[in-house]
Order: sequence, then structure tokens, then C-alpha cells
Amino acid sequence: MKRRDFLTATAVGAAVSLTGCHRPEEKNDDTKRRRRGKKTTLKLATSWPAHFPIMGTAVDRFAARCAEMSGGTLEIKVYPKNILVPAMQVFDACSAAQIDAFHSGVYYWKGKNPAFSIFGGMPLGLLSEEMITWFKFGGGYDLWRELYAKFNLYPLIGGTTGPQMGGWFKKEIRTLNDLKGLKMRIPGLGGEVMKKLGVNPVLLPPGEIYTALERGTIDATEWVGPALDKMMGFYKVAPYYYTGWHEPGSILELTFNKARWEKLSAEHRAIIEAAAEEMTATMLQEFRYRNARTLATFPKNVQIKNFPDDFYPAAQTALAEVLEEQSAHSKDFAKVLDSYRAFYALNKPYDDISTKRLLQIRSMT
Ligand code: CA
Repeated sequence: MKRRDFLTATAVGAAVSLTGCHRPEEKNDDTKRRRRGKKTTLKLATSWPAHFPIMGTAVDRFAARCAEMSGGTLEIKVYPKNILVPAMQVFDACSAAQIDAFHSGVYYWKGKNPAFSIFGGMPLGLLSEEMITWFKFGGGYDLWRELYAKFNLYPLIGGTTGPQMGGWFKKEIRTLNDLKGLKMRIPGLGGEVMKKLGVNPVLLPPGEIYTALERGTIDATEWVGPALDKMMGFYKVAPYYYTGWHEPGSILELTFNKARWEKLSAEHRAIIEAAAEEMTATMLQEFRYRNARTLATFPKNVQIKNFPDDFYPAAQTALAEVLEEQSAHSKDFAKVLDSYRAFYALNKPYDDISTKRLLQIRSMT
């Protein structure tokens, strides 16, 4: 117990013991507020436009569920990007307690610590459900919370995308050589891998990607999957749609200012955790459903392609080099990678004889 908490607890303990009803949890401000029927309000900023499909509406639903489950005593006020803080400053604003929480993508913060990119997902690696299993049972959450605590932050998983598509290309990629010199909008570790294969990875704000692709400033872009990609209109100017490899199970985050989190009542923390679990499961299901529905509506000019056969081993080799370089440069990256790899190794033999095998069997029929 911290000194201040101890003093508060002692003072409260002394006061209530006079009346003979000692309630140690009353040391918590929010618990007292809740007992008095007062509302706790948290400001949550997102990196998405207001009510953005799937990712943004998931946060709206999360806030509504917190209000519902708490009988109206927990209000999450959602601020879409750039209303309270710019989209890419939510991490800093929450760390500095200017906001109480944020919803965003973990890999955006790899500049703070390269290890954060692993929490966001691994190219050619774990799928969404496997990533979540690593977080909850394989030590991922402990490492994420340990590293975020240095920024006074407390992260929860806030949804996941399922497998993302490999992106839209203006020209067909027939050989590995066709990638050389291409400009592609692709962030994160996937971008680092592409760079080793001769691609020039660029970062563009979402609002500029379509125009850049249309004008030929870039030759290709990845985004998410059919449902969100169709809205961006990429298929109109880049008809080759490649299957995914670089974001098999990207994780979104629902992160709280750690000091604020610790002041919440145990009941409100439990409600937030339950609503976040629900958000994660529902988002994954919604992505699956809406991607499937949208795929069926693409016009005939869209051509679904796999990268050439030699792409995948080349990408594996490039990824191994990227991971080795990052590990040499950052002890935290090496530590998180070790934990990720330990879970991967544990998971694979059983996955091979269960999920993977069932998918093979299913594809035979
Ligand atoms: Ca993506």
C-alpha cells in the first residue's frame, strides 16, 4: 500500500471504527462516490472519426454498456479524433492525465518503445484469437502492462481485426522482382519486411491514400479488409487485391491513465473489463461478418491474388532479419519477442492437429 493510500485508509478506518462498521474499501474515492449514487465520468479519446464503422462504433457500444451495467454510475464520454486531442497524440495526452483513456492501435507507438509493435501483432504470426490467448494466458498482458506502467498507462485489449488483407496494387505482382521500387503505404513491421524486399514503404494519413493511389504517387496500399477497404474506394484505381500476411491478428487497445484506473471503484473496473472483453469478441465477429458480406459485393474488375510463391519464404527471411535487428537495438523488444515466441512454440503443435487440420479437411469438401 502506498503511503498516501495508507494514511487515507487509516483515517477512514479510524473514523468508521468509532461507529463500529469498519469498511476498508471505503478508502477509494470512487467507491464512496458510487455508494452515494454519484456518477464517475471518464474522458476517452479515440484515433478514429466519430462513429467510424466497426472500430468507432465498438467504442460507442462499449461506453453504452458501461453505463448500462453500472446502472448509470459510470459514464464514458467518447471524443472522436481531433476533438479533444489529435488522433496520434492520445497516448501522450493519457500519459499526462489530460484524458482518462484512449482507443487506438498499439503499433502507432513503436517510437516510444519498439517492443510495442509486437503487442499490435506480428507479420506471418499469430491470429487474433491466438494473440489474445498469449496476452491472457501466455504472459503478454504482464509485459504490456509492465512497459506501459513506465508511461503511467494501463492497457486492455480493445478489439481486434482478424486477418487483414495484403493490400491493393495497381499492377499485378508476378514475381518477387515486381515489388522492387514500388511505393506502398504499409506501416509497422510489415512495412519493414517490405523494405527488405525492395519496396519503398510510405506512411500517409488515411484521407490522402486514395488520391495518392489514383495519381500514382503510390503504387499500392494496404488498409484492413473488404468492409473498410471498399469504403475507401481503392478498388476503383488498384484492382489487384492481395491476400494477407502482414497483419494476421492486429490488436487494438483500450488504455487508461494508470493512476485514474487505480482510483476507480472495484465495481467500475470490473464493468470496464467485462465491457472490453465484449467489445473485443464482438468486433472480431463483426469484422468477419462484414468482410464476408462486402467481398460478395465487389465489382468484377477486382482480382483476388496471392503473392508469388517465392514471396512468402523471402518475407519470412526478411522478417527474421528485422526481428533480430530490433532485438539487438532494444532489450524490451527482445524480451517481448521471447515471450511471444514461447507461446507460438507452445501453441503450434496443437493448432496443427486441430484448427489447421480442420481447415484443411474443410477445404477438401
Ligand atoms: Ca492495416
